Amino acid sequence: MGNPEQQTPTAGASPAGEVEQFDAIVIGAGVTGLYSLYRLHELGLSVRAFEDGGGVGGTWYWNRYPGCRFDSESYTYGYSFSEELLQEWDWKEYYSGQPENERYLNYVADKFDLRRHIRFNSRVVSAVFDEEDDRWQVNLQDGHRASAQFLITSVGILSAGYIPDFEGIDSFQGPWCHTGRWPKDGMDLAGKRVGVIGTGATGVQLITEIAKEVSHLTVFQRTANYCAPLRNGPIDDEAQRKIKASYPEIFKMCNESAGSFMHKFDPRSAMDVSPEERLEQYERLWKEPGFKKWLSNFYDVMMPGEANEDYAKFVREKIRQRVNDPVVAEMLVPKDHMFGSKRLPCESGYYEVFNQDNVLLVDVRQAPIERITPRGIKTSDAEYELDVIIFATGYDAVTGALNKIEIRGQGGQTLKEKFAGGPRTYMGISSAGFPNLFTINAASVGNFVRAAEPLVEWVSECIRYVRENEFTRISATPEAEDAWVKHVNEDGAKILRTQANSWFVGANIPGKARVLLTSPDTAPVMRAKRAEVAANGYEGFLLE
Ligand code: NAP
Repeated sequence: MGNPEQQTPTAGASPAGEVEQFDAIVIGAGVTGLYSLYRLHELGLSVRAFEDGGGVGGTWYWNRYPGCRFDSESYTYGYSFSEELLQEWDWKEYYSGQPENERYLNYVADKFDLRRHIRFNSRVVSAVFDEEDDRWQVNLQDGHRASAQFLITSVGILSAGYIPDFEGIDSFQGPWCHTGRWPKDGMDLAGKRVGVIGTGATGVQLITEIAKEVSHLTVFQRTANYCAPLRNGPIDDEAQRKIKASYPEIFKMCNESAGSFMHKFDPRSAMDVSPEERLEQYERLWKEPGFKKWLSNFYDVMMPGEANEDYAKFVREKIRQRVNDPVVAEMLVPKDHMFGSKRLPCESGYYEVFNQDNVLLVDVRQAPIERITPRGIKTSDAEYELDVIIFATGYDAVTGALNKIEIRGQGGQTLKEKFAGGPRTYMGISSAGFPNLFTINAASVGNFVRAAEPLVEWVSECIRYVRENEFTRISATPEAEDAWVKHVNEDGAKILRTQANSWFVGANIPGKARVLLTSPDTAPVMRAKRAEVAANGYEGFLLE
């Protein structure tokens, strides 16, 4: 197996000034990038992936922070396209950690011989559509240039890290980093006074883990979250055998569920059963691992309304029960947003961290951070002395990673300008005026690999169709795009994910337009819509 530490940018090395020619270029070698490479090669295309990192894995390459792990079941997260791969790979834990996840993606890259088609340490800075020859001209930071008919942006949904524009960051005398760029050699936190800003899914995992080794931990929390026990554990041999024998059923369940998880809602409304029966179900599911607590619960627990608030009360009580100091407990209890309207973190001892004498919770909504000082963090109330600062402050989701690349389509317009008011696409995949560009990272929803695999297959099939029918261009029609944007805005407004200020709607980034960044549809509905579009000769697309 290749060592991710030792990747070089040698793949595709070409003499200075030469523009490498491919049928397709994939930006990113994470989960979707690797699979795109695999599928397009299967079709017989020449493909090159350009990857900013020194190894494969994307999210699982960059997020090396302590505690980083899946919170969907490991065996629902692997690729399903190869039975051999499924049978060969042993997931060691029910919710596997970052090192194993990175190993898995390296294993996939080696097994399918994908590595030789990837140029590592290769940051794409611009991609310009050449209207004369219908090809994308791709420019890298190191001066390397390449050209291809098709361009696929497998750049991730949550990959452009966000650090708030605090004054004085560079004046801080100790080390600091964003969780999404955790140093490969790790950070020495043992015995240090550490400050963590942010309590989203990342902060919750990180805080729980580092609280075991730091001398003092200060957690800067702006919004309390609803978190629930992950209940991870090792997968023993017997369970491993069962999992391997059950993959068809596991994937069938995932395919049938709204978010591609292996959980099925109870078709009953929480409000149609007695309070006793309701509580019995809440308690029973609470003892279960992972997302089952809400995704196998009464269906309306995950919809705005009475059932949602009833379940929120139950979870708030669970939080209170675990924190010794009632004042700290109240700080940790979310009261300003609906249960499930933000991504729900799973945890493994998070609340107990706040019972430790060396942990301090600071409410930065009540006393906002004013600046970073040479010695630590200054809020409107006090200055906190720190040796290390960690920003678990999230991501400029979906469009952030696209905007870092200057993508110029027809007439010289940039995707960034076009997306200034929110993504303007058809089904997240294609944008009018940007022919042969597949914004695959803007189209995925739910349990990531389960959602990404069919999407990659759809895009590959679409490319095959274009080539076989000797078209040179494909892009969304302006009409299909307008209708899709209207659907996202109108139907998106009704779902739980748009009810709070989070990355789902771009509300975590100051100045970013507040729109749903993903599809409002469930995964089965999205797959059906895409299938229908393809069956109708790529309806809604302009083929030239
Ligand atoms: P996030 O959910 O956006 O959380 C960012 C945190 O930083 C929030 O607590 C936010 O507070 C805080 N923050 C941002 N700006 C701040 C400021 N100026 N002052 C104080 N606090 C500030 O980001 P994340 O935790 O990295 O998670 C992002 C997504 O990644 C998750 O929702 C999930 O989809 C994914 N993820 C998945 C896993 C997994 O699968 N196991 C693990 C980690 C992450 P507010 O809430 O007040 O904005």
